[in-house]
Amino acid sequence: MDYGKLLKEAKKARMNAYAPYSGFAVGAALVTRDGKVFRGCNIESSVMAPSLCAERVALAKALSEGEKEFAAIAIVGAPAKEDPKDPCYPCGVCRQVLSEHVKIDAFEVVVEENGKAEVATLSDLLPKAFKL
Ligand code: ZN
Repeated sequence: MDYGKLLKEAKKARMNAYAPYSGFAVGAALVTRDGKVFRGCNIESSVMAPSLCAERVALAKALSEGEKEFAAIAIVGAPAKEDPKDPCYPCGVCRQVLSEHVKIDAFEVVVEENGKAEVATLSDLLPKAFKL
């Protein structure tokens, strides 16, 4: 897995973020096991509840195209006018939603810290995930 390339895709996605309320722009790049990349950005709403995180936008794009096998997601986020410098981990809602569509012990979550990829499995970030 080329984490640097995946982080670049997440940064491209971040350029399209619609974040007029928080001012915090996030991009995500979800890669399938066969290498297809789906990008997502956060899309806010003036009514905050229906706002969408970048990760769930990327996942919805992939699922709606029939994709079912996912390998990793890269996420970058920062105030809209700044370059990302701190790692941007997925929120709890996204961790839960992703857990329903990936193998959580193998699926990799990639963030950037000091210019380097930091990788964790989703099970590291969401131990004992909720299941119906
Ligand atoms: Zn989220």
